Amino acid sequence: LLLLLFCFLFATGDAEYTHPRQPLDARLRDLMSQMTLEEKIGQMTQIAKEVASPQIIKKHHIGSILIAPGGEPAIHASAEAWMDMADSFQEGALSTRLGIPLIIGVDALHGNNNAYNATIFPHNVGLGATRDPQLVQRIGAATALEVRATGIPYTFAPCIAVCRDPRWGRCYESYSEDPNIVREMTEIVPGLQGYLPAEFQYFEGDSCKNSGKVAACAKHFVGDGGTTDGIDEYNTVIDWDGLKSIHMPAYVDSIRKGVATIMISYSSWNGKKMHTNYDLITGYLKNELKFKGFVISDSEGLDRITTPPRANYTYSVEAAINAGIDMVMVPYTYLEFINELTSLVSKGAVSMSRIDDAVERILRVKFIMGLFEQPLSDRTMVKHLGSQEHRRIAREAVRKSLVLLKNGKNVSKPLLPLPKNARRLLVAGSHANDIGRQCGGWTMDWQGQSGNITIGTSILSGVRDAVDQETEVVYIENPENAVAASLNFSFAIVVVGEEPYSEYEGDSKDLRLSEACYSTISNVCGVVECVVVVVSGRPVVMEPFVDEMDALVAAWLPGSEGGGVADVLFGDYGFSGKLPRTWFRRVEQLPMNKGDAHYDPLFGFGFGLTTMPSDGVGVAAE
Ligand code: BGC
Repeated sequence: LLLLLFCFLFATGDAEYTHPRQPLDARLRDLMSQMTLEEKIGQMTQIAKEVASPQIIKKHHIGSILIAPGGEPAIHASAEAWMDMADSFQEGALSTRLGIPLIIGVDALHGNNNAYNATIFPHNVGLGATRDPQLVQRIGAATALEVRATGIPYTFAPCIAVCRDPRWGRCYESYSEDPNIVREMTEIVPGLQGYLPAEFQYFEGDSCKNSGKVAACAKHFVGDGGTTDGIDEYNTVIDWDGLKSIHMPAYVDSIRKGVATIMISYSSWNGKKMHTNYDLITGYLKNELKFKGFVISDSEGLDRITTPPRANYTYSVEAAINAGIDMVMVPYTYLEFINELTSLVSKGAVSMSRIDDAVERILRVKFIMGLFEQPLSDRTMVKHLGSQEHRRIAREAVRKSLVLLKNGKNVSKPLLPLPKNARRLLVAGSHANDIGRQCGGWTMDWQGQSGNITIGTSILSGVRDAVDQETEVVYIENPENAVAASLNFSFAIVVVGEEPYSEYEGDSKDLRLSEACYSTISNVCGVVECVVVVVSGRPVVMEPFVDEMDALVAAWLPGSEGGGVADVLFGDYGFSGKLPRTWFRRVEQLPMNKGDAHYDPLFGFGFGLTTMPSDGVGVAAE
């Protein structure tokens, strides 16, 4: 027995692949040469945390865990509790024969948005309005630290969709309708990952042992934002030139910047499911663009290749793996996936070289991320979760994301910036005092929630902090005309918007706010000078109400530091944001993007008025 144990220790402990100083290729070759088919297929399998346990991970040689939003431990768990969870999963993997570490991933789309007390940054649409790729890179770096603060080395972000129709429920995950802006915002990739070494293309350097970085995932390849009528997971009808010039440039840039993984879209291109598209995944992404990381399916993406889902799972697994998908987000029915793929290989329907390509890509990412050397969480990282420094970056992003669409019924009499010394002002509307609504979907929960879901500053609290001590701030969520008229307000700030949503649940045919929102606007703006702040993931119907308002600000989904809206309303900083999307007049005009014939928007792409800070010093924003 002792001799056996010795042999085992000798076999793993001294194997070439465990030596950080060996060249990466040698480590890869050595490890691959020792792996059985079962172990290889395990590496290709990503299961949900809800079904994961150290025993299951060990038994099936599972390679990756998906931490999707919601459920435990998200709500109110400490960073340490997250680390405990991650480490217990990891220990399952480390106790396997070859001790290959897991790569655990989380949807950190605007900060580490599933963890209580994390800094929640504006959703991508607001970052598109900043036109500031360097800021977005800093947000990526801060997000990476906050993800590491929960023991996780991988995020399913950024979404680099080019949303062409705001009726799409994921439009706020897109930086812009303009491919160039989306392309520039891929600066988030080096923010999240750092500059990865030559194996991921063109950067020099040692492997990424810096535990302050995480592997990124550009998604959803490709054309997810171009579906007909903005229907989620639907079909994108466009020719190759259009696909290449609109939806592809951000992938080209992400790969150039070394993105470690790419996620496939649920949608189809000209009727063919992306999850089965060999020409685009293997032919274009891997061969032509020379992408060296791994390709991951979307969650249950293989199931959804057929209608109804899983109607012919054997076909779906075969088509997806042969198309070039390396890791499959299963996430619950892992036994079926493992069994199907095993039998497809034994039948010769999936080749061993295809399996080896997939596993090699997955292991390369694990090596480069330093997971073999540092598989467990680094407890010193806890301090980064929701740090003041990150909240400052988020507040800066909020200020820069605001787009001033109207300022004064008469241009010579602007309403903004607002004075801080009014005697009494009114704040109204459903979104003035609601951190959950400010954050939108993908915050603490998949669909998001309203209310005090995490730590942050509401727009109302920002207003209270901004004004002079003597100024009375009266907050009435939904005042009647009479109330608004009776109290002699100097002016009113009306904050309305969309309810939180994500994915297909956010698809909308009419893009209207609730009738309560519109009536708040009419009730207040009819009798008091008013600025309306819209909290939404996309342009919404504003005609004819826009005529009643004195000023209008698009605040997008500002996240946990919504108090930053007041910094700009009251002139500590100037307005500088520019529309990242066309603001339509009527939904019948959609889709409508800049450069279209008959372009007749309410506010055109790129529009945004500016103001100077009220002390007259400096220029717009910081
Ligand atoms: C979404 C992806 C996400 C995945 C994992 C899917 O429903 O389309 O964007 O990364 O779930 O949560």
